[in-house]
Amino acid sequence: MKMKLGIIGYGGMGFWHGENAPRAGVEVVAAYDVDPKRLEMAKEEGLTAYNHLEEFFKHEGMNFVLIATPNDVHKELTISALHAGMHVMVEKPATMSVSDWDEMVAESEKTGKILTVHQNRRWDRDYKVMRKVVEEGNVGKVLSIESRVFGTGGAFFGWRSFPEYGGGMILDWGVHLFDQLLDMYPDTKVKSVYAKLMTVLDQKVDDYFKVTLTLENGPLLHVEVGTFAFYKLPRWYVIGNGGTLQIDDFDCKTGGYTKPRYTDTPVAEVVVMTPAGPTRMMAPRPPETKEDFELPEVETDWTELYANLVKVMEGEEELLIKPYQVRRVLEIIEAVFQSAKEDRSIEVSI
Ligand code: NAD
Repeated sequence: MKMKLGIIGYGGMGFWHGENAPRAGVEVVAAYDVDPKRLEMAKEEGLTAYNHLEEFFKHEGMNFVLIATPNDVHKELTISALHAGMHVMVEKPATMSVSDWDEMVAESEKTGKILTVHQNRRWDRDYKVMRKVVEEGNVGKVLSIESRVFGTGGAFFGWRSFPEYGGGMILDWGVHLFDQLLDMYPDTKVKSVYAKLMTVLDQKVDDYFKVTLTLENGPLLHVEVGTFAFYKLPRWYVIGNGGTLQIDDFDCKTGGYTKPRYTDTPVAEVVVMTPAGPTRMMAPRPPETKEDFELPEVETDWTELYANLVKVMEGEEELLIKPYQVRRVLEIIEAVFQSAKEDRSIEVSI
């Protein structure tokens, strides 16, 4: 079955889907937007452009809708699209509350139409490399995973700087980074959430956050995003009882993992003079007592996400991005906002 895709919200991300979905064999046919300038652009790209939602839904043969508007209208547009008989993929964050999401899922169940979310960062190379190293046991039992994204832009543009439209970094990058980690630990409950949301520059929404998730019998997960940080910390940093992993950036060009090598050479038996002063614990390790490894290669192709949706339409596969996973991320986000507001750790079982 061919996917004939219509795009609601032909802004930055809507345009991106229009350009990239065809790589997965999808035919992009139409766009709806409230901004006439964006509709002109859609026409230039060969799409039929609509400024009326009901007309858009009647586009001949269209069977799937991608929603890429500001976050505050995801829910109402999703429900309208499902009601009009469309399958729907909505951009992240799916919406701004768990109860909104439950309403969206209820409509999808009522209409029998697909509802999923564009959690494309499950296909990011850095994430896949981190998972491969960890899941192959290369750093032993994992005690801590740190996931960070830092930029220097500072200011937000347009709707992203207003809370009422769903602005701020938790709902922008946080949702991706939580989704990645929760996907890695599908059967391990998060038992507490502690969050600090900050505004480094004078803004109405969070432009810097630190979130700690504690898992039941699992590692501590630390997620941090900054928009005004001039020195970067690694994209991933993992501590295990069998080694350490560092991935510096999205491209995975630098980083690696290191494991101890057990030799007859004593490690830090005597006090050593270091720039930090006399120490045994923090003394440099003799090179022959450790082994450094390059980051592994991984195959990753984001078009799998659209290919999966076509198979789901044909009844041949299950959704890769499942509604209950989306709900779990939204539950975490609600606990994050509660923790930040009440300045305390929130006990959960998510
Ligand atoms: P944008 O401001 O560039 O585009 C939003 C578009 O929606 C604009 O063209 C605007 O005119 C239109 N719009 C606003 N209200 C509308 C309405 N009620 N009906 C129809 N159209 C409407 O924003 P963006 O950066 O493209 O972000 C859009 C969505 O995509 C957000 O949910 C964002 O979180 C998500 N996004 C996802 C990724 C990703 O990697 N998955 C990346 C960027 C953005």
